[in-house]
Amino acid sequence: MLACSACGLAFAQSNDAARERISRADLEACVKQLASDEWRGRRTGAPEAVAAARWLADGLARAGVAPAGDAGTFLQRVPMHEVARKAAPKLLAHTRDGRTVELAYGVDFDQAEVLADARIERIVVVAKKDDLPDAPSTSIALVLPESRSERRALLEAAGAPEGAGFGLILTLGPDTPGKERDVSGGNPSLRVDRGAEAGQRLRLRGSAKQRLVAGEFTGFELVANVERKVVDAFNVVGVVRGTGVVRDAGPKAAEAIVVSAHYDHLGVDTRAPSSSKSTESTDTHGEPPDVIYNGADDDASGCAVVLELADALAHAPRVDRTVIFFFATGEELGLLGTNWYVERPFVPLDDTVLNLNFEMLGRPDAKAGGPGKLWLTGDERTNLGAAFRARGLAIVADPRPDQNFFERSDNMAFVRKGIVGQSLSTYDLHTDYHRVSDEWDTLDYAHLETCARTSFDALLLVADDAFVPAWTPGDEYAR
Ligand SMILES: [Zn+2]
Repeated sequence: MLACSACGLAFAQSNDAARERISRADLEACVKQLASDEWRGRRTGAPEAVAAARWLADGLARAGVAPAGDAGTFLQRVPMHEVARKAAPKLLAHTRDGRTVELAYGVDFDQAEVLADARIERIVVVAKKDDLPDAPSTSIALVLPESRSERRALLEAAGAPEGAGFGLILTLGPDTPGKERDVSGGNPSLRVDRGAEAGQRLRLRGSAKQRLVAGEFTGFELVANVERKVVDAFNVVGVVRGTGVVRDAGPKAAEAIVVSAHYDHLGVDTRAPSSSKSTESTDTHGEPPDVIYNGADDDASGCAVVLELADALAHAPRVDRTVIFFFATGEELGLLGTNWYVERPFVPLDDTVLNLNFEMLGRPDAKAGGPGKLWLTGDERTNLGAAFRARGLAIVADPRPDQNFFERSDNMAFVRKGIVGQSLSTYDLHTDYHRVSDEWDTLDYAHLETCARTSFDALLLVADDAFVPAWTPGDEYAR
């Protein structure tokens, strides 16, 4: 084992000593804290999730990992809004003969993705690139083809991906009117505030569509009718710098890998009465029913492994690649935190070569070989699994490819950017998945310890730049 005289870490231990630091006691303490009732299921946007983020940040600091979030901290803010719809969006059309007509939601327009009011003074019908205006403007509505891919290509040609900078993106729907819709009374939803980056969108149909096509409309007034409340949400990001030397390529900025797990979960079941005595079930012996989605396996188990890996790597001899430790918010809402990160990565994505993600490792999976055995999602898609097995690591291919786990976690945010991204797991389709019964004391911590130590060896392998993560040629995500 090299003692790393060049890297300046005087007391770097051996990898064996670093691996020994990973303990079932630490793993259990981490899961127990994250999955405690006190943190009420770590729902994105809730104060308890922020408390969990700060606790994980403290854990990284204690491990000796450097901060890699905003402004020298471990936290990366993901600007989110809680959006409550007060009423259906309102659309007023100005006509050529100087009148204003109100279009009805559901009947004249639908598929509305609108969060803010807008005033449109110019309508531009775009069938091909030449039709595009010179520059985006919030007073312009673009009328674009219904096909998503055509729309995307035109917006990119306009220098406005996702419609950024335009007031409204209109598409044309069926010639028939739709049905009037009641949109009140829905639960508030969480959205990432993309500011001017994303265009608002709706679809015209029936006579409104025909009038637009006939050139009868000259402008629009859009009233979103939503109430927006800013909520706090954070990713937690730390870094252990690599030596920055790529073999045969001379010194250069170190390539990075991202080791991740999501710390958010589902919060509290608001449908279940938590205190009403009359609806209490008889088997709770007078206790109120459990309404907290503790998320011990999903994914406090993955967070515990990542925190232990961070501690071990920070106490190991320096590795070639920079390793970013990443705890994501908003996974359960659709990878919101990780999608935010890949747009604002600590190390540019061009230099980020791998995402190794950890999801649900708290219980042994017989199909992977039982206690201490891991499986890898998308095994055949890349060269990772074969490399792990060549090293003798107990990591098999995902035994349930029909469940499509590869596409069901944060690794996909990296994969969509062309980066190799896969998850390690031992999820055995247990029945506590996404239930309030996913509690800390249902996990097997001896199993988790073995998995975390194996994961450390997997991490050392991929952090060594002798190994080059690569897609299997011809894979649908290969770039
Ligand atoms: Zn999960």
